[in-house]
Amino acid sequence: MDDRARVYHRWQLILSALNLVLTAGVLAGAAWLLAVERPPATACGVDLLLLVAVELAVLGLAVAVVTAPLGFVSGYWLARRFGLLHQPFRHWLLDRVKAAAIGGALGLIAFEIIYGLLAHFRLWWLAAAVIFFGGYVLLATVAPVWFLPLFYRLTPLADAALRDRLLALAARAGVPVVGVWVADQSTKSKTANAALTGIGRTRRIVLFDTLLARFTPDEIESVLAHELGHHVHGDIRRGLLVQGALTLATFGVADRLLRLSAAAFGWNGPADPAGVPGLALLLLALGVVATPLGNAFSRWIERQADDFALATTGNVPAFVGAMERLAALNLAERRPNRIKELLLYSHPSIDRRIRRALRSQGATA
Ligand SMILES: [Zn+2]
Repeated sequence: MDDRARVYHRWQLILSALNLVLTAGVLAGAAWLLAVERPPATACGVDLLLLVAVELAVLGLAVAVVTAPLGFVSGYWLARRFGLLHQPFRHWLLDRVKAAAIGGALGLIAFEIIYGLLAHFRLWWLAAAVIFFGGYVLLATVAPVWFLPLFYRLTPLADAALRDRLLALAARAGVPVVGVWVADQSTKSKTANAALTGIGRTRRIVLFDTLLARFTPDEIESVLAHELGHHVHGDIRRGLLVQGALTLATFGVADRLLRLSAAAFGWNGPADPAGVPGLALLLLALGVVATPLGNAFSRWIERQADDFALATTGNVPAFVGAMERLAALNLAERRPNRIKELLLYSHPSIDRRIRRALRSQGATA
C-alpha cells in the first residue's frame, strides 16, 4: 500500500515542481520583456489600475495555458489512475474553472489594492498589509458560507442518533453549533474529511459523506473532536496572525525590490506598471520561501488538535482507527522522507500521529 502512495506522491511532487518552474518562467519572461521594452505610457489614476488589470489578465491567461497540461495530469489523470478521483471530466473541469475564477478575482483585487496604494503612499506596504489582513479575516468568515456551496451539495445529517452524539460532543467541548451537514464528496472522490465552518449563527459541522460511509461513529467522533480542538484553540485566529505577519514581511521586501528595480530599469517610480510581472514573480518566490514556515506552524497546531481530540474522547483506538482509514482513503504516505515532511507537510505524517496517540495512552494507563 505504501509503495503505491510513495509512487503517487513522487509524481505529484515532480509535477508541482514543474508547474512552479513554468509559472516562474512565464512571469520572468514577461518581467524581462517589460524591463527592456517598457510601454511609453506613464499611467496614473484609473489608467494605471486599468493597465494593471490588463497585464494581470494576460499573465493569468499565459500561466493558465502553459500549466494546463500539468494540471490535467496531476489533478485528473494521475488522481484517477490511483483511484483517488472518479468525478467525470466535465465536473472536474467545472470545479477547476470555478476555483480559478475565485482565485483570479481575488488576485485582481489584491494587485489593484497594491498599485492603488503604491502610486500614492510611501508606506503603501504597511497600509496594504493592514488591508490584506482585513481581507483574510473577511474571507475566513464568509468563505465557508459562500464558497463551500459552490463545490458541494450540503444536506442536513439524517442519522438522528449520530447527529445528537456529535452535537453533544461539541457542547462538551464548549463550542455552540447550529447543526450537522453532509457534503457530497462521494460524487468526486473517496477522500474523507470533516470541518467546523462558519461563525456565530452559521457555525455548523460539515462531514464528507465518504466519512459517514466508511468510518464507525467512534471514529467520526474522533475526527470531529480534532476539528473542535482547532476551534477551542482559536486556530483560525492564530493562523490569521501568522498569515498577516508573513504578508507584512513580504510587502516590506517587495517595496525595497520595486524601488531598486525602478532605479535600475529607469521606470517611472515603483508604481510603474512595468513592475507587475516582477512583483508577481516576487510574491511567488516569497510564497515558496514562506511555505515551510507556514507548514511548521500548521503541524504544530495540528498536533495540539490531535491531543485535544484524544483528551476529549479518551478513545485512542478510535483515533488510531480513523487515522488508518484516512491514510488508506487519501493514499497518504505514512512515512515520508523527513526533509519532505519538514518542508511540505501541513500535518504530521500519519505514522507520527498514531505513535503520539499510542504514547498518550501509555502515559495515562
Ligand atoms: Zn486539523
